[in-house]
Amino acid sequence: MAIKDSFGRSVENLRISVTQRCNFRCIYCHREGQLFDSNVELSAEEIKRIVSIAASLGVYSVKLTGGEPLLRKDIVEIVRGISSIPGIKDISMTTNGFFLKEYAKQLKDAGLSRVNVSLDTLNAEKFKFITGVDAHKRIMDGIVEAARVGLNPIKINMVLLKGINCDEVEDMIKFTEENQLILQLIELEGFGDDPLYIKYHADLDDIEKKVRERSLRVIVRQMHHRKKYILKGGAEVEIVKPMHNTEFCLYCNRIRLTSDGKLKPCLFRNDNLIDLLGPMRSGADDNYLKDLFIEAVRRRRPFFM
Ligand code: SAM
Ligand code: SF4
Repeated sequence: MAIKDSFGRSVENLRISVTQRCNFRCIYCHREGQLFDSNVELSAEEIKRIVSIAASLGVYSVKLTGGEPLLRKDIVEIVRGISSIPGIKDISMTTNGFFLKEYAKQLKDAGLSRVNVSLDTLNAEKFKFITGVDAHKRIMDGIVEAARVGLNPIKINMVLLKGINCDEVEDMIKFTEENQLILQLIELEGFGDDPLYIKYHADLDDIEKKVRERSLRVIVRQMHHRKKYILKGGAEVEIVKPMHNTEFCLYCNRIRLTSDGKLKPCLFRNDNLIDLLGPMRSGADDNYLKDLFIEAVRRRRPFFM
């Protein structure tokens, strides 16, 4: 049984940033809300220990993210360690895909269930503009390899950016349908006064309306009550609208772990973190860490309410 916060929300999913390092420079990157630079990284063993504690409190799903998780030389060891923990049923990763071709098979063998690949455009020039790296073909090859080794499902994360890629939704639906991928259309997250947010934030309501009109079926996912639309040709399109969305927050069952070992109850806040790494490296026992985890859950509040 997962533990619940004071708003009745079960905490079932742990989203772990395994590094802040990245080989891309995406114009919009929120760095998983980890605003301050830190060179400290949890070791594979420390990650395993924290996930064991989370699992003992009912967490069964783990998402690895970053920075770019595949920059960790020990990423396969990290996945293997987590997959050996009783109670963990689902391990996924969000990656920019640059090293996916090299790692897909090893990750699958180590216990990774599925993968999200960030791909905002099918146009190589736009890709370079968004990410700062000329690597579109490489990412495509990584997706092909992930499918070949049986990582399933593969989701494509497409952050919608006004004036850049909103006109590509149709092409992206076709691409994901043809390759049996799931498309996640993601609203740009940010703060209203950030010039980048003002420039690029696109409202997803119109896009969702068009997708809904063509759908045969809608599945409401438990996480964030995200809607997944099954379209006539078989395409699957999930809409992720976090901004000013009370439903998104009300059905959030996720807690985060920063790359330097702090529990982070909410993407949007940095004033309520709980440090696990300091106590761990000072010899804290599992019961002490468990109490810290419970305290982090107690600090969870719906951000948009
Ligand atoms: N480097 C990996 C990648 O890009 O997939 C993992 C880390 S990245 C921070 C995780 C996901 O967050 C990616 O799918 C990325 O597109 C998305 N993301 C980053 N900044 C965002 C923002 N401001 N709004 C919405 N999604 C964002
Ligand atoms: Fe951020 Fe991921 Fe892009 Fe790196 S690849 S800059 S972590 S969104």
